[in-house]
Amino acid sequence: MREFEVKVEKIKELLSSAEHATTKFQKVYKIGCFSGCGKCCSTESIEASSLEFLPLAEYLWKKGEAAELLEKLKDADSLENCIFYIPNCNDKTKGFCAAYEHRGLICRLFGFSLRQNKNGMNEVITCKEIKEKYSLSNISFKDEEHEFNMSDYYLQLADIDYSRAFKRYPVNKAIAEALNEYAQMNSY
Ligand code: SF4
Repeated sequence: MREFEVKVEKIKELLSSAEHATTKFQKVYKIGCFSGCGKCCSTESIEASSLEFLPLAEYLWKKGEAAELLEKLKDADSLENCIFYIPNCNDKTKGFCAAYEHRGLICRLFGFSLRQNKNGMNEVITCKEIKEKYSLSNISFKDEEHEFNMSDYYLQLADIDYSRAFKRYPVNKAIAEALNEYAQMNSY
């Protein structure tokens, strides 16, 4: 296996462990998304690294869909939301991810991961609706093993490729970068 393929495999493992952790988090604290809600994917403000989308890039190049997508992403700045978000109502608050299985790290962690606030307390990185529905400010979140800590996942991503892990772009630009980087790495 070539060096970059090893890198992509490591990212896949990290994405999978983030997936397991957020599933566990939802079970332990009995919280979850509203059925059909896609509000967090409907905003323009999602930022991500290209690195976390390399497994998606690999999938799309192998499937023969990457070149067409790159063409669409040429105008990434004018897109109002992630290119993979498919809204199914007029105000775009309901919809789904067309790349769900291969989505990035932020896509998996947002909603059900933790950060420490300035008082050293764990708080959930999530949307206003979930915070209100589940009265999250009344819950004490424990994370001795750092299993649910978002920064920890990004540190693990940095262990895989330091220079790319913290370079963040608007989500469509991150996807375009990942597609280009994968093509470049695959050509050596
Ligand atoms: S790739 Fe991420 S940001 Fe884009 S629609 Fe899917 S979950 Fe949302």
